[in-house]
Amino acid sequence: MQATTPTSRRSALALGGLIALTGGAGLVALRAATSAGDAGAEDPRSADAAPTPSTPLQTDPLAGLDVDRALDVVRRLTREVGQRAAGTPGEAAAADLIARLLRDLGYEVEESPFTVGHRSHALLSGPSLTRDGFCWGAETAPRGRHDVTVTGRLVAVAGGSAADLPADLAGAVLLAEVEGVDVTALATAAVERGAAALLCASAEHDRARNQAFPPELDDWTPLPVVGVGRTQLTRLRADALDTEVTVQTWAIPEAVSRNVLATRRGTGGDDRGCVIVGAHYDTVIGTVGANDNAAGVALVLELAAALRDVPTEADLLFVLWGAEEIGLKGSDAHRRALTPDQRQRIRGVLNNDMVATTMASADRYWMLAADGEENAVHRAVRAAAAELGRESAVSEVETYAQSDHHQYDAMGVPAGNFGWRATGGPMQSEPQFHAADDLPEQNVDRDRLRSAMEIQALAAVALARS
Ligand SMILES: [Zn+2]
Repeated sequence: MQATTPTSRRSALALGGLIALTGGAGLVALRAATSAGDAGAEDPRSADAAPTPSTPLQTDPLAGLDVDRALDVVRRLTREVGQRAAGTPGEAAAADLIARLLRDLGYEVEESPFTVGHRSHALLSGPSLTRDGFCWGAETAPRGRHDVTVTGRLVAVAGGSAADLPADLAGAVLLAEVEGVDVTALATAAVERGAAALLCASAEHDRARNQAFPPELDDWTPLPVVGVGRTQLTRLRADALDTEVTVQTWAIPEAVSRNVLATRRGTGGDDRGCVIVGAHYDTVIGTVGANDNAAGVALVLELAAALRDVPTEADLLFVLWGAEEIGLKGSDAHRRALTPDQRQRIRGVLNNDMVATTMASADRYWMLAADGEENAVHRAVRAAAAELGRESAVSEVETYAQSDHHQYDAMGVPAGNFGWRATGGPMQSEPQFHAADDLPEQNVDRDRLRSAMEIQALAAVALARS
């Protein structure tokens, strides 16, 4: 993302100083880009810095939005960083990128780490595994072998069970469908026949049947045992049988994730509170997560850019949560770290998770609530959509607790999750959901991303001015 302001002004913002802006409405003092931690260090209402008459006051929340810049963030998160599973180097690289983009906008950035326990993952590679962005990350069996790299010829197990294995599999990488199969017995037989690794696929995962999964073993095995998604299985069968496939596995005993936060100061002082605009930036293992949730991150960063100089009485707190996909751990860590005062200041939480799928049936902008009850943020979003002529696309509030808004709702803060999803229901996810082909070219709709950005920008500003 490119900064949109002259260097001199950006530098001043980076210093966290007082910036006086003039416009049609007169002089407005706006202290931008200071962290939440130094509240009270300066009075944001005193404007003793020299006015800069050449800088126009920006009052329109929509004027600075740039969907191409947002799509570039999606591309960088999915192509340059790739998979961003909690506690892995990919997630850390994504946090670094997000923090850098916020700093480039002039924000002071707070990065707050938290532990996510033991994590493990795998990566497949080989001359037949295409490098078109398709994700070859996979889950591992916790009781399989980790921190190892093996290469072997890919052999499909015809029937899937141990009895179907050929006698000699020396050095082979086995590929088996394990629905209804005793994976422990299969792994034991594979070890006896000299296999190098076992790749499992399963159709047992209901909503996310294309998602990688951790195979379950009753005993420890000296073999790397990996669980791939159906989308990956299809490609392995079509392109990679009898070719060399490399399997790498890693275990991270004490993995760390982090939240990335930046505050756009309001003009009203601390007692006017703050509005949180957030998105999770991590992925499940086995996807680069374009719609889930690089698009949501891009939306939040775009609002951070476009609303930086749009005055509101309340603060805007932009939060990019880590480790959502393993149990809302980033938002949980943020919630727990809040002091009672900070908790009281939160006026609402706008969570943007899965905002812009290309799925044809996703013509409804869903308003979701952990408790199913409409609250102030839903009302602000509906009013924003109406202002844009999109009210008929907005759903009634539906119960849905499987994202970060749940943590804030649980402590009594008005919170909701918002995004374009299937008209028939928010659980009818696109086929790329949590799958290796949730790619920016296939699953991020430009118009839906733009309208989600516009609705959220208007809603955030309305909440912060109310
Ligand atoms: Zn998500």
